[in-house]
Amino acid sequence: MRVLFEEIVFGTKRKEQIVDITGDVRAILNRWGVQNGIALVFAPHATASIVLNENEPGLERDILNLFNLIAPVDGDYHHNRVDMNAHAHLRSAAFPPYIVIPVRNGKMLLGAWQRIMFVENDGPRARRTVVVEYLGE
Ligand code: ZN
Repeated sequence: MRVLFEEIVFGTKRKEQIVDITGDVRAILNRWGVQNGIALVFAPHATASIVLNENEPGLERDILNLFNLIAPVDGDYHHNRVDMNAHAHLRSAAFPPYIVIPVRNGKMLLGAWQRIMFVENDGPRARRTVVVEYLGE
């Protein structure tokens, strides 16, 4: 069994932003020449999320609206006594910053419209990291 590991590093520009990282993940797996296994896509951040869904501008706004419904920026939060980003932590708790994708014959087993999308809940940030870890053949 192989265990492979690589980081994708990027910055975010807005307070709330979706970054499609499907191409980056696919390029890493292709370069590794993987066959059958699983890919973990994991962001080591307490205020980020990763969602697997369609990358369509209207839906992107709908997803951000859903996040805002779950944890509005102006909610009454205990954590805001420490720093003013409780909403971002809660969004990351509700939509965790990782997904697992099966890999078959060298390709991620994604549905036709599924994309891997990093969600910035507390931007802008100069440096965000997503770890791609592969376990398999
Ligand atoms: Zn905080």
